[in-house]
Amino acid sequence: MACMSRIVQRTGSIVLALLGAACGAPEPAPQPVPRPSILVITLDTTRADAVGPEARGVKTPAIDAVAARGLRFRQAYASVPETLPAHTTMWTGLYPAGHGVHENARSVPARHELAAQKLAAAGYRTTAFVSSFVLARRFGIARGFELYDDEMPQGSAERSARDTTERALAALAAPPAGAARPLLMWVHYFDPHAPYAPPEPWKSRYAESPYLGEVAAMDEQIGRLVAAFERHAPGPHAVLIVADHGEGLGEHGEATHGHLLYQGTMHVPLIVAGPGVTPGTSDVPVSQRRVYHTVLDWAGLGSQDSLRSVAANAAPEVVLGEAMKPFLAYGWQPQVMAVAGRSKAILAGRIEHYDVIADPGETRDLAAQGPPDRRLRDALREYPVPSPDGPPAQEALGEEERRQLASLGYVASGAAPVVRPDAPRPADRTALFALMEQTSDLFVRGEYRKVIPLLQRMLREDPHNLDAALRLATAHSTLGQEAEAEAAFAKAREIAPGSADVRTYLGLHYARTRDWRRAVPLLERSVAEAPDRLPALEGLAALREREERWPEAIELRQRVHALRAPSATELLQLGALAMRVGRTELAIEALQGARAKQGEAFEHHLELGVVYLAARRLTEAREAIDRALARQPDAPMALFKRAQLAVLLDEPDQRQRIEAARRGADPHVRELIARERLFERAR
Ligand SMILES: [Zn+2]
Repeated sequence: MACMSRIVQRTGSIVLALLGAACGAPEPAPQPVPRPSILVITLDTTRADAVGPEARGVKTPAIDAVAARGLRFRQAYASVPETLPAHTTMWTGLYPAGHGVHENARSVPARHELAAQKLAAAGYRTTAFVSSFVLARRFGIARGFELYDDEMPQGSAERSARDTTERALAALAAPPAGAARPLLMWVHYFDPHAPYAPPEPWKSRYAESPYLGEVAAMDEQIGRLVAAFERHAPGPHAVLIVADHGEGLGEHGEATHGHLLYQGTMHVPLIVAGPGVTPGTSDVPVSQRRVYHTVLDWAGLGSQDSLRSVAANAAPEVVLGEAMKPFLAYGWQPQVMAVAGRSKAILAGRIEHYDVIADPGETRDLAAQGPPDRRLRDALREYPVPSPDGPPAQEALGEEERRQLASLGYVASGAAPVVRPDAPRPADRTALFALMEQTSDLFVRGEYRKVIPLLQRMLREDPHNLDAALRLATAHSTLGQEAEAEAAFAKAREIAPGSADVRTYLGLHYARTRDWRRAVPLLERSVAEAPDRLPALEGLAALREREERWPEAIELRQRVHALRAPSATELLQLGALAMRVGRTELAIEALQGARAKQGEAFEHHLELGVVYLAARRLTEAREAIDRALARQPDAPMALFKRAQLAVLLDEPDQRQRIEAARRGADPHVRELIARERLFERAR
């Protein structure tokens, strides 16, 4: 494959590069190395200046120790300042324009083969431990991992570095059979993400900067993790440490991340250590997408674009980045970043240009002194902006998931974009960030009455903000204010007439009203267009039950459960539906699943016994009925079923069982006993 800059010069298209073509100057192919076990540690929300030997205001001895024996990239860049898109880049090797995940709460398209899938196919054992709901299995990022631990503590959307490390260490210490294979292990830490609340002693030690306190606390766990990995995983060992993106910390008016493309959020730490890596530092700008190529290289699956081969004197590749959420959700300008050498250009309505070595704070825009390098301009101009008319790759969310995501400061509106020539530049809208955060916070906590006036104000100040219009509509809908909800939906439709999300949320709104039948065609269309769109699937499943279209309800529920783990209650509901249409095996599977989840709290032993009996699984039926009777010794139906089983299993006490059933019978069971032929042949 040609390198990107040559493609730009030759064809004027960078699409090939986005789709995985090699980039940068020709680099020497690295020497093959024995396949190591590979540990990839991704640090959420960690600025380049917050870790490593050059960190400011914080000590990170564990990361420094890896850096001391590895190669540290001092000019590494995130591809997008959001968690799921950035991780998708690292596991596909593609920029967001290539993999299509521009925001959190979308799905990684199945057409992309992730690094873990390739390594698993090449004989690696693959395990992952993530610390935020944003990276839950349902978003498609778990493909290829034999073990994917995304279980968050009850009622929480995130997990501490300590908790995640404990789980990773337990898995390392107790490998399954076949553990002689090399291991790919991915551990994601979320601690530095807002809100900043480090544990002691870091809380006191970093009282002035709790953000850095979170980083320091995370570093301690990294030390434990790396030591355990090198003790237990088959050697040799490779370790890669990288951040998904940084944190604004107030620079350029951005407290957190996701809205702008300045260094605080885009410049990230990146360290590789292991076989074939020459220790040192590199000032060559590189994208985090090369994590993918480096992992493949270590696994012997191709050395192209591996970070092992970045020479100190290599000609700089054009490193790209984007922040499309303000464009997709609020109708602001799309934003693209391009970096080559010490030059960085940002296109967001107009071009900004900085020398990030001399001016890492990006305080002096050089654009007035002339345009940036032609390569940068070409790259910015040709970076594909996601099309509002494209296929709806959006994945909308259910109430609970939305709450969880928003509790992390992420709000995925699922909003389709409208490109307007007069769209504001995100950097000129920073005054709205605080109001957006406040509305998001109230919305998450379900304080709809309080959030409505703020959303109305938001729409007055930012009249094309689809995210605000959809939230306003949903807030009214949830409060049962139907007229106001419909007015807000009308506004949303005016902003984005073709939006699949407006259609979906309108459908979910109707489903809450007496007009629920109007929801059916809307949600049918949503499901047809985007088969993985969970809330639409969930909503349509509920509608099918109301329509008493049981087989379709079952099919939709099964699709929902394939995308996310069902609750015990949902499994019981599926079991009841399956029993209703006589799908015995499915009913057994669902009830067994509910029992496994509920343990001692499971109360449906009788139902389970009945479906086992229907499936002629008599021993299991007897065990289930005995459990029911142990809890309720005089339950008439359980006594009756137990007597039936005694006869069918030809037990010696079958007559006593029948007698006990007769004595305990209520009128309904008495009738059943009278008609039970089985009892006539009892011994
Ligand atoms: Zn993140």
